[in-house]
Amino acid sequence: MKTTMNRVPFGNETKLYIMAGSCPGCGAGRNQYHAYGCPLEPCPQCGGRLNHCFCMVLSIADEFKLTRKLSQTLTRDQVLKMADTSKALDRTYEEKAGFSWICDNASPELKKEMERQALEIIGGTRHGDLIRVPLDKAAECLGLSIEDAAPIMNELESECLYPGWDERTGQEQ
Ligand SMILES: [Zn+2]
Ligand SMILES: [Zn+2]
Repeated sequence: MKTTMNRVPFGNETKLYIMAGSCPGCGAGRNQYHAYGCPLEPCPQCGGRLNHCFCMVLSIADEFKLTRKLSQTLTRDQVLKMADTSKALDRTYEEKAGFSWICDNASPELKKEMERQALEIIGGTRHGDLIRVPLDKAAECLGLSIEDAAPIMNELESECLYPGWDERTGQEQ
């Protein structure tokens, strides 16, 4: 299993020190987590810009929240530019966000087809607005044991049910 690292709260930067009571990028106070997608959040591994460096060491749940937030801020031109310079759109969190942007903005027919294929891969079924994925299948896709996958799936599920709510800090994002 790939080692993951915790996010760096504002004021705990190792490289770039910001002399301010709150983050100029997202307004987070000292020792609070940045809002997902904040351009000033540092990478816990290299200290560089989390959205753009190639480390990608966050947990699966953090990655999910970050790429979803980032994809909401991208424009068509930015995504096209990224697609020009990256083959798989998977080297940085911003590129991954570009990939979700493409999925989000696909035509309805294409979206349906993508969902059908994704459900086939993860063994999921759709129930109205909800998609159910069996835990053993999800664990297999994540390359984890069922015990390790369970808390991650729980966190993603609560994120899907209560979007914008951070379980860890109990704050709105
Ligand atoms: Zn910030
Ligand atoms: Zn990094």
